[in-house]
Amino acid sequence: MSKALVVGEIKNEQISKVTLEMASRAKELKMDVSVIFFGAGAENAAKSNLSGVARSLFHESSDYNGEVIAEAVSKVVKSGNYEIILIPHTWMGRDISGRIGALLDSSVISDIVDLQNEGGKLIARKPVYAGKAYVKLAHKSGVKIFSVRPNVFAVTQNKTEPSSETPEKIEADYSKAKAKRVEFKSSQGAKIGLTEASIIISGGRGVKGPEYFPVLQELADMLGAALGASRATVDAGWIDHSHQVGQTGKTVSPILYIAVGISGAIQHLAGMGSSKYIVAINKDPEAPIFKVSTYGIVDDLFNIVPPLKNEIKALKG
Ligand SMILES: Cc1cc2nc3c(=O)[nH]c(=O)nc-3n(C[C@H](O)[C@H](O)[C@H](O)COP(=O)(O)OP(=O)(O)OC[C@H]3O[C@@H](n4cnc5c(N)ncnc54)[C@H](O)[C@@H]3O)c2cc1C
Repeated sequence: MSKALVVGEIKNEQISKVTLEMASRAKELKMDVSVIFFGAGAENAAKSNLSGVARSLFHESSDYNGEVIAEAVSKVVKSGNYEIILIPHTWMGRDISGRIGALLDSSVISDIVDLQNEGGKLIARKPVYAGKAYVKLAHKSGVKIFSVRPNVFAVTQNKTEPSSETPEKIEADYSKAKAKRVEFKSSQGAKIGLTEASIIISGGRGVKGPEYFPVLQELADMLGAALGASRATVDAGWIDHSHQVGQTGKTVSPILYIAVGISGAIQHLAGMGSSKYIVAINKDPEAPIFKVSTYGIVDDLFNIVPPLKNEIKALKG
């Protein structure tokens, strides 16, 4: 059984969904899985057993430093003879995966959307050319490091009851780091993180102005969704850049992506093309978004969004 280390992520002191997704996929691929956590809440995260996990490791710290985390993970990988590392493709993963690759003299296959065992070889699938094509990649040698896009794997390994095993505390030396975080400012943007959201409602230039984004936010709140936007609306100053989806914004992969008044330019599709179900509301039947959408509504969005909200309100009682 191959030994895999999942680098877990904590959000608001909770284990993030992508961590469970990575652990689930690793178990499905019959790996011997360990999980390591850093940050505030790391100890608690390590104590809550992810069913079937061999080892839980943690370093509790209110500080964040990618250099330090990469160093600590590399040490654990070397001492534990891990063959595979799974890292979430989030801002933390982007920060640490390359560093870990360098420290272990190995390469990272980043932003993967699938991982299969084909004849004993781990084959990853990832989008290229702004989502226009996919490549399959495998490591030739070294520790196999993958960064995994959130929401692409199902959660089958849930958090269960507290672990009977004692989680292992690991050391991390912050004193030698060449850079340190001097301030942490949370963005005023999304209430629910776009990159991990299961449902996203996104607005485009078709919404006509900034005043319609609060309307979409209400709809998003009703569905427990995150609010996204096209670059055209961000450039127009209608909404903050933290909401932008696409090549120069965030890459998202929700179960449901509702595009409201978005044309579906290739740069937008690059950020949301791997969504499971895409629903497009656009008055132009020729809009490119319909080529990728699962369901399309050809109509004026101002005729569709209000009754949609009413229907959801009624359904929710
Ligand atoms: C290097 C580069 C990077 C880029 N990065 C990104 C990126 O990260 N994200 C991104 O989104 N874009 C990006 N773009 C811009 C991209 O090319 C498009 O210009 C942008 O996505 C268009 O946004 P939009 O769909 O909101 O606007 P438009 O293309 O103007 O489309 C508006 C749509 O709304 C529909 N509409 C209008 N009124 C209504 C109505 N009342 N009811 C229903 N439908 C209506 C129209 O039919 C139209 O299809 C990038 C471009 C470049 C060159």
